[in-house]
Amino acid sequence: MTLLQNPHQSMTVLITGGAGFIGSHLVDYLLRETAHEVIALDNFSTGSASNLRDCKTDRLEIVDEDIRNEALVANLVAGADIVYHLAAAVGVKRIVDNPLESMQTNLEGTENVLEAAADDATPTFIASSSEVYGKSEAIPFSEDDDVVYGSTSSSRWGYATAKAADEFLALAYHTERDLPVVIGRYFNIVGPRQTGQYGMVIPRFVEQALAGDDLTVYGDGTQTRSFTHVEDAVSITHDLLTTSSTHGDVFNIGASDPTSINELAERVIELTDSDSGITHIPFAEAYDDDFEEPDEREPDISKLRDAIGRSPTADLDRILRDVINERTDAVVA
Ligand code: UDP
Repeated sequence: MTLLQNPHQSMTVLITGGAGFIGSHLVDYLLRETAHEVIALDNFSTGSASNLRDCKTDRLEIVDEDIRNEALVANLVAGADIVYHLAAAVGVKRIVDNPLESMQTNLEGTENVLEAAADDATPTFIASSSEVYGKSEAIPFSEDDDVVYGSTSSSRWGYATAKAADEFLALAYHTERDLPVVIGRYFNIVGPRQTGQYGMVIPRFVEQALAGDDLTVYGDGTQTRSFTHVEDAVSITHDLLTTSSTHGDVFNIGASDPTSINELAERVIELTDSDSGITHIPFAEAYDDDFEEPDEREPDISKLRDAIGRSPTADLDRILRDVINERTDAVVA
């Protein structure tokens, strides 16, 4: 594999969305594993200063600004040697609640980054999502699979569409402007610092179990997801961008280890030693009536393995323990 950078040689790295859940773990990873200077750009809409509070180093600069600010983005990208573009209005729920601002953030923000990066051919990672596969049922999802979306009258599909458009843009910049860009589709990335506020299941279940409340399983709980530890996700993200053979290509980033939501709920109860029970809530009650959610979501990670020679290693118990420990410490402290 061809590595573009020597981790011991200092570079300037721009991370958009650097105070977010995945972004802040990427900041930690780069500060720990490399000698790079890191600039974290974030508008703190869903990111949080507390995610970066343990980074006590003058190698980190935090810029509190919006990714839609074209001049500022151009300036920051011009000063960077590599760029990780993770800033986005994340999650389907946010798009449904704020469709206009979310679409603008996810479309304009990415274009601002790509246009600026193309000037100096700055290696750039673009964060995409498993949502891009839409309601495809071709499990496991491979990067070249067809995508299947619902009607534009359902704002739920706006997130998938915006991320797909970001991918098209990135690939076009690669083809026409020689931009060294790689796209990663994140699959159910979980771990410490993830908030349950936007509906994510693991922080919700852990908080319910620790509070002694029933865990709220939506539907009959037979739906499956393949959860990936955020620490695996960020080291893979770094490897993908620093391996030049990946440029101009799209990769699934995730584990291939499906668990049903019922099994997940039971395991959370066991590991927290909780007296909580499990309540099943119909999808129509949990979401809107016309909400469609995939029964199964699992990546094919053979392409990722071929490209960087590895895939996620943390299993569900390790993930859950890390999330539980973080919450338990918070309660004790
Ligand atoms: N889920 C659940 N209870 C909750 C939150 C989520 O049963 O309190 C389910 C949700 O319906 C989905 C799965 O857990 O089947 C994963 O949800 P999440 O929002 O974490 O990820 P995504 O739906 O984007 O895969």
